[in-house]
Amino acid sequence: MTNSKHPKIIVLGIDGLEYDLVTEWRLKNLMQTKYCKLSLSDYKVIVTPPIWGSMLTGIVDKEIIDVWNKYVKLIGNDEKLGEKKWVKILGLFVPKKLGIWVFEHLFAPAIGGDPFETTANYVKDKNLPTILNFFQNPWTNGIPSYGKNVSGPVQKKYTERAIAGEKKPYRKYILEQYQNDKSQFFSALDKQEFDFIFWYTSMLDNLGHMDMGKPLTLMMKHYLEINEFVGIVKERCPTSIIYIISDHGMERMEPKKTSWGMHSDHAFFSSSTGETIEKPSKLYDLISKHESD
Ligand SMILES: [Zn+2]
Repeated sequence: MTNSKHPKIIVLGIDGLEYDLVTEWRLKNLMQTKYCKLSLSDYKVIVTPPIWGSMLTGIVDKEIIDVWNKYVKLIGNDEKLGEKKWVKILGLFVPKKLGIWVFEHLFAPAIGGDPFETTANYVKDKNLPTILNFFQNPWTNGIPSYGKNVSGPVQKKYTERAIAGEKKPYRKYILEQYQNDKSQFFSALDKQEFDFIFWYTSMLDNLGHMDMGKPLTLMMKHYLEINEFVGIVKERCPTSIIYIISDHGMERMEPKKTSWGMHSDHAFFSSSTGETIEKPSKLYDLISKHESD
């Protein structure tokens, strides 16, 4: 199917979108016709790049997971990034800037580089077939594991300032990125030449790490914004199949006195068609089913 006015399929990839908040706040546009919780039991560590990579390829890449596993073990954390020892290293208990210094000079070289850098493009680097191959004119604004580094040098600079207590510039930067991602999406839509769109935003992951421990009114504003954006997409593309997916949610980090958040152990999925999947890697099968429609 080519030259369609609307894309045949639109995937809205919303990093860090928390299932429990979407359902608690009854965000109807995000919930679509049918929604479900995704299991992340396939992943030894719940980190962003390998989960998006498995949506794209249908495969949980053991080699990439191992890179992250090694990293998480090195920083002294068994299961998830963001628990107590990670907080320590990042500067809540050591002099603020030292955390980043320690990471860049000691941990990153020890595991063969910063895993955010080394795994940011692994799907392309390994030349793996992806769901984009099912289409003639696919478009994406970049997905972690597929050309998008969610923790590049600029991001790191802002993160470092946020850890030192200066959170405002970081929030501003993240919201600018989000606006930019949104305009890229609408420009792509206006071209009317793409049959598949995989749009990605890291806003809720980035802001969630900083603000999930606060009264959630701060996060609610961003959830409402995303819900409204989805509403516009649905209005503009009434004939497109729309899937909404996250790689994991976000929850308050322990100890409760911190304002920082960490990845939760489940993810979100919804469809305009009533279809559901059980885990992120099953997105591949779902898209492949529609290939010959
Ligand atoms: Zn993520």
